[in-house]
Amino acid sequence: MPSERQIMVGNVPIGGGAPVAVQTMTKTETANLTATMDQIRTVAEAGADIVRVAVPREQDVAVLAQIVAQSPIPVIADIHFNYTLALKAIDAGAHCVRLNPGNIGGPEKAAIVVERAKETGTPLRVGVNSGSLPRHLRELEYTNPVEALVSAAVETVELMERLQFTNFKVSMKSTSVPNTIAANRELSQRIPYPLHLGVTEAGTKWSGSLKSAVGLGTLLADGIGDTIRISLSTFHAEEEVKVAWEILKALKLRERGPVLIACPTCGRLQFDMDSVVAEVERRLEAYEDPIEVSILGCAVNGIGEARHADFGITGAKDMGMIYSKGEPLKKVPTDRLVDELFLEIDRWYAAGKRVVSDEASAADARAWLAENEDPDAMTPERIAALEAAAARVDVDEAESPVAGRRFTRT
Ligand code: SF4
Repeated sequence: MPSERQIMVGNVPIGGGAPVAVQTMTKTETANLTATMDQIRTVAEAGADIVRVAVPREQDVAVLAQIVAQSPIPVIADIHFNYTLALKAIDAGAHCVRLNPGNIGGPEKAAIVVERAKETGTPLRVGVNSGSLPRHLRELEYTNPVEALVSAAVETVELMERLQFTNFKVSMKSTSVPNTIAANRELSQRIPYPLHLGVTEAGTKWSGSLKSAVGLGTLLADGIGDTIRISLSTFHAEEEVKVAWEILKALKLRERGPVLIACPTCGRLQFDMDSVVAEVERRLEAYEDPIEVSILGCAVNGIGEARHADFGITGAKDMGMIYSKGEPLKKVPTDRLVDELFLEIDRWYAAGKRVVSDEASAADARAWLAENEDPDAMTPERIAALEAAAARVDVDEAESPVAGRRFTRT
């Protein structure tokens, strides 16, 4: 279930059933206005709905008003330890301020920031990190880290409510994926406020993306989480945004840009599919529509499972084929596959999103496909289809009223 409450970070709704918002954090020194703005524009172009900037020093808060004014997306100021910086960030017009009441100097300091946030209508992100739980929960952390995290988050929420402040979202960060999942599941049952999800210090682009996909993907698939940030060890914050989008697209929670599908390849492959996939992926970044493009490594399956793709290519040693919605369009030399694919996509746009096919070329392509198709080949796709069919039979038999008799000897 999405959170009951909704807040607005600038013009972006968070929670209450709004689309899951993608956010990231700049990696630049915030005080370096040019570098920070360059990165903000880059992440906005990559699809970030919101951006967060670190504000650890006076010189950072000094440029915040300019960042807010120039940024194409709402800006969250990330503040730790220094409540006066939080006050200055609110005064600079930050669209949201992130602070952990546990490290801002105690409830009194948090209350001062909340008062200013109330006056200006600025939302806060409040939360806890597994690494900095309050002292009275540290023992519990050893025996039940999930309960310790949830308790700390609930205490933070109770503090906000005592201050009669409800314009906030909550985050609960842990480096452990199972703890992140369990804690957010529990917290989502206990509070009505929007949840910010992330796996803290997730790791490199490779391992961090996987940990985030598993942790955040599990929660999002349950309907838990209103905004996400992928934390990766890279200077390129836009990579975090791309991973976030892939997670949301995979779960069909949001659409953005093309969807690329490619076969896993096997011993039947006879061309450099890695390079083709990389090049197609790179060129697709220029397109905004959620068109689906499929790449098959060989023609023995025919068009098979790629039948529904808007466009696709099937490669082979010297020749390949371009198809659209399951219909062959033309046969082309393998080294022209990518260029011809994009010519067809652009022709489709030029014709008002209508496939323009030349009958002679299509017939040529169909003949090539018929020559190369092998209905008897046991390909990974056909093995998977047989296994799926066998699994369905097992389920049907298990659900049948006579299922128990299957192994009865008479
Ligand atoms: S059989 Fe399937 S996995 Fe193997 S190259 Fe052909 S399309 Fe790809």
